[in-house]
Amino acid sequence: MPSSTVENYIKQLYVEQQSQPGELLSMGKLASSMAVAPGTATAMIKTLADAGLVHYEPRAGVKLTRGGQQLALHVLRRHRLVEQLLVEVLGLDWSEVHEEAEALEHVISDRVLARIDELLGHPRVDPHGDPIPSAHGKLAEQDAESLAECSERETLYVARVLDQNPGFLHFLDRNGLTPGAGLRVKSRDTSADAVSVGVRDGGTVVLGFAAAAKILVRREQPDRQG
Ligand SMILES: [Zn+2]
Repeated sequence: MPSSTVENYIKQLYVEQQSQPGELLSMGKLASSMAVAPGTATAMIKTLADAGLVHYEPRAGVKLTRGGQQLALHVLRRHRLVEQLLVEVLGLDWSEVHEEAEALEHVISDRVLARIDELLGHPRVDPHGDPIPSAHGKLAEQDAESLAECSERETLYVARVLDQNPGFLHFLDRNGLTPGAGLRVKSRDTSADAVSVGVRDGGTVVLGFAAAAKILVRREQPDRQG
């Protein structure tokens, strides 16, 4: 099994590549997102290139190879299934499972992972609505829209939350904006930086555009099992 450091680099590269598909990621950007010195990142990337996990062009940047991509999806599968297990079976709060999963994602064997998947009924998404890659490394991205841009006055459902900060997740709990919850955008005012959202109990929640952009919604109630 690759070391947890290797897996963390590969996972971070995957996440960064999602926002700029196909492009090389600069070493400076990678080092700052991993919170390490540039020399440390470069040494690690050379090791990963030797292992065939990344394609590295000195002075240009780095991107995952197919093999690196498969490893990243496998780590994400472990992470998201562990989060689901911690919430569904062990009863932890969804705001506290990300940190736990960051550690556990590196030590779960394929055999245990397959058993967790079976026990949970092959879930499609984790507690934050993030899609769980299949055992074959396929990731079904949902066609969800941001609450900052979706249509108004239509019943929509929270599908995914892009920020795992515990404070933000507690805010969503308090205001009935957790995955699966129904809502309606009442109005948007860019000059006031305000998105007014009607929630299930008849109340109204006002969010800034940055917060609204972290909540993805869909027209259909999410189907959580696979
Ligand atoms: Zn997580």
